Amino acid sequence: MAKRILVTGGAGFVGSHLCERLIAEGNEVVCLDNFFTGRRANIDKLIGRHDFELVRHDICDRTTFEVEEIYHLACPASPVHYQKNPVRTIRTCVQGTLNVLDMAREVGARVLIASTSEVYGDPHMHPQREEYWGNVNPIGPRACYDEGKRCAEALAVSYARQYGVGVRIARIFNTYGPRMHESDGRVVSNFVVQCLRNKPITIFGEGKQTRSFCYVDDLVEGFLRLMASDVDVPVNLGNPGEFTMIELAELTKELTGSKSAFVYEPLPVDDPVRRKPDITRAVERLGWKPTIALRDGLGRTVADFRARIGG
Ligand code: NAD
Ligand code: UDP
Repeated sequence: MAKRILVTGGAGFVGSHLCERLIAEGNEVVCLDNFFTGRRANIDKLIGRHDFELVRHDICDRTTFEVEEIYHLACPASPVHYQKNPVRTIRTCVQGTLNVLDMAREVGARVLIASTSEVYGDPHMHPQREEYWGNVNPIGPRACYDEGKRCAEALAVSYARQYGVGVRIARIFNTYGPRMHESDGRVVSNFVVQCLRNKPITIFGEGKQTRSFCYVDDLVEGFLRLMASDVDVPVNLGNPGEFTMIELAELTKELTGSKSAFVYEPLPVDDPVRRKPDITRAVERLGWKPTIALRDGLGRTVADFRARIGG
């Protein structure tokens, strides 16, 4: 059944793929964004369609839309961007989520909160399961985002308990794919751009820290399944394949045919050492698991960057 759906942060990297998918499924989409890190170019294909509406709005200011579902993604996701204005980041996570939950309560919508693996901080449990409460530095440079997202989760479950709002919580692990901004600052886009331009590849620390990279189409499929499910506890959405940053750099070099050399730069403060999702809950309760391997997804990402920036 077609629905009217709000996507906050819909002009961003993940949001734009989500809007496209929701429309392809026959829904009507309202895309709300303040264009802090999002771009009109991401949703160019959708502008002008009768089933797509673009609203320029900051989610920190109250608003209401008569919708049945809300995917709440509005928030900068890259450490470079979320640390630029940390107070703004916390405000977006807290005030923005409060506004979304108030709207959901008012109009009777179900909400999916885009949370993050950052709620686990620099984890002592590996791989990370949803039961783990995390190891987050509440006063470090990542705190504005990590604690902001933890608060967003706390708000969501409180609205569910107190007011009966239907909430779904996706704990997203590093996701990549076409349309990442070339100056986004996250590792995949940095490495791809550096390789295509034959510039040095910036490895932070010794490059032995690990991450698990999920292709954006897989994540979007997980979002839709989670929203449609009865799972009202947080769910990890990520690809359990675990790679060091050196391995990622080598694969990116191979796929781009780049001549770039590695340069080593200081490891950012509180940079998590290991990260890998345990996706048992998503597999068992949503029937979801990623289908696109890093080599394949990275190849598609490289092709998209090549079309945009050359190289
Ligand atoms: P992104 O920066 O490309 O997208 C975020 C979007 O939110 C942008 O379009 C931005 O303009 C918009 N936005 C920011 N603040 C806003 C505000 N106050 N009001 C309205 N719009 C605002 O990042 P992304 O990778 O697409 O991430 C989307 C969501 O998923 C974020 O909530 C992020 O925390 C979460 N997430 C992403 C990843 C990932 O690896 N991509 C991992 C964990 C969590
Ligand atoms: N990183 C890197 N070089 C870069 C950008 C990032 O080595 O140019 C490392 C960073 O230190 C971290 C990992 O890559 O260990 C992932 O960083 P990203 O900012 O993509 O996301 P995070 O998972 O840290 O939020």
